Amino acid sequence: NSLYKIEKDNSSINAFLEVKEGEAIELAEKIDSRIKNGEKVGKLAGLVIGVKSNINVEDFHINAASHTLENYLGSYDATVVKRIKEEDGIIVGMTNMDEFAAGSSTETSYFGHTENPAAPGRIPGGSSGGSAAAVAAGMCDLSIGSDTGGSIRNPASHCGVMGFKPTYGAVSRQGLLDLSMSFDQIGPFSQDASGIATMLDVIAGYDPTECTTIDWKVPSFVDAVGETQKSQTPLKGMKLGIVKQFLEVSDDKIVNIIEGSLDKMRDMGAEIVELSFDQIDLCLPTYYLINYVEFFSATRKYDGRKYGYRIEESCGEEVLRRIHMGSYISQKELSGKYYKKALQARSLIRKEMNKLLDGVDAIVGPTVPKLPHKIGTSLEPMEMYAYDVLTVIANLAGIPAASTPAGNVGGVPVGLQIQAKPLDDVKILEIMAAFE
Ligand code: GLN
Repeated sequence: NSLYKIEKDNSSINAFLEVKEGEAIELAEKIDSRIKNGEKVGKLAGLVIGVKSNINVEDFHINAASHTLENYLGSYDATVVKRIKEEDGIIVGMTNMDEFAAGSSTETSYFGHTENPAAPGRIPGGSSGGSAAAVAAGMCDLSIGSDTGGSIRNPASHCGVMGFKPTYGAVSRQGLLDLSMSFDQIGPFSQDASGIATMLDVIAGYDPTECTTIDWKVPSFVDAVGETQKSQTPLKGMKLGIVKQFLEVSDDKIVNIIEGSLDKMRDMGAEIVELSFDQIDLCLPTYYLINYVEFFSATRKYDGRKYGYRIEESCGEEVLRRIHMGSYISQKELSGKYYKKALQARSLIRKEMNKLLDGVDAIVGPTVPKLPHKIGTSLEPMEMYAYDVLTVIANLAGIPAASTPAGNVGGVPVGLQIQAKPLDDVKILEIMAAFE
C-alpha cells in the first residue's frame, strides 16, 4: 500500500529523494514468511519507514539535500538505523529536507521543494518536510527526522501528523550529520501515538558509541500509550501550563484552535494554569548565534577532499549565510561579544524553563506561531526564522517536546506543542495519546 502511494504520488509531492522498492518488497516477503513459520519477529515487523537524508543508512544517498554531498553514499548504519533494522523495520527510502537541515520550509533542498499533502500549494514546513509529508501522504507508516530548533515539530504541525523530539541525549545522534550538535536530536513521525511509541521503544536509550547519550531507564512507551487509551479520564490529576507569551506571539486563528484544545484537555481531567516566560525575545537570537557557530565548525570537513564538492562553492544561500556568520562570530576577538553572551542567555533560558516545568506536568501551546506560507512566496531570513520562536526553546533547554494535531484553519493543519521536563518524554506521549 505504501509502495503504491509512493509510486502514484511521489513525483508530485517529492517527499522521497531515493526509494528502493525492490529491496523493500524482498525484505517484506522474508518477514512475512518468518511470521508464517511462527518465528519471532521484531517490534517494527512489516512497517515501512522513511529516513531523513541526513541520517546514515548503508548504501543510500546521504546528501542532506545538498549539491555538496550529492554523490555521497552511506557506508554504515546510524545507531537508530541499526536498531530499526534489528526490529525488522523496512527502510524504503530517504526523505527530502532543507539543505543541511538549515530551514523551516523544505524549499532550500537542492532537489526541489516538497509539497504539503494536507494543505496543497503550501510548504510542508521543515527542515524534515519530506519525512512529515511522507507520513501524511501514507507513503510510509513511520519516518524519522532530526530536530535542531523545531525540524520535527514544525513540519508535523504543518502536515497534520505527530512528531516527537526526545530529551537531548535520550536517543543516539551517532550517524546524524550535524547541523548544531548541542541541539540536534533524532525523533519519529507517525499518524498516531502508538506509532510514535513503537519507534521510541526501538530507538531510545544509551549508546556507548555516542558520548552525549544518557544512560537512562527507558520506559515502555507502547505500554504507556495502551494504559492511557484505556482510561476514561486520561488527564486526571495532570497540571498543564499555558505560557501567555507563547499565545501573544501567535496568529489569532492559531490561538483559537489552541484554546479549543485546552477545553478538551480540561474535559479529560486536566487542570490548566497560566505561566509567564519573560525570556521569549532572547530565544531566536540565542539559538541562531549558537547554530551559526556550531554549523560553521561542523562544515569544515566538507572541503572537497573526502566528500565531493567544497561546501562554499556548492551550497545554497542560507547555508552560505550560516557559514559566513559562523566564521565571523567565531573570531577570537568577538567571542566575548556574541558567543559567550549567547551561552549565558542559553543557561538563563534553560533555568527559567526548568523552573516553570517544576510546577506543572507539561507546558502546552502552539507549535508554530503562524500558518505555512504558499510555495513560491519569497521570505526574508528573519521572516523564515520567525517560524521557530516557539520550537527553539526546547532545544535551548534540552527538554523533550512534541507536536500533535490540534485542528485546522480553513483546512490548514495546526499543531499543539507539548513540552516536559528532561526525560519525562513518556508524559508527553501520554498526553498525545489522550488527545488523539
Ligand atoms: N529552522 C531552524 C533552523 O533553521 C531549525 C532547523 C532544524 O531543527 N533542523 O535552524
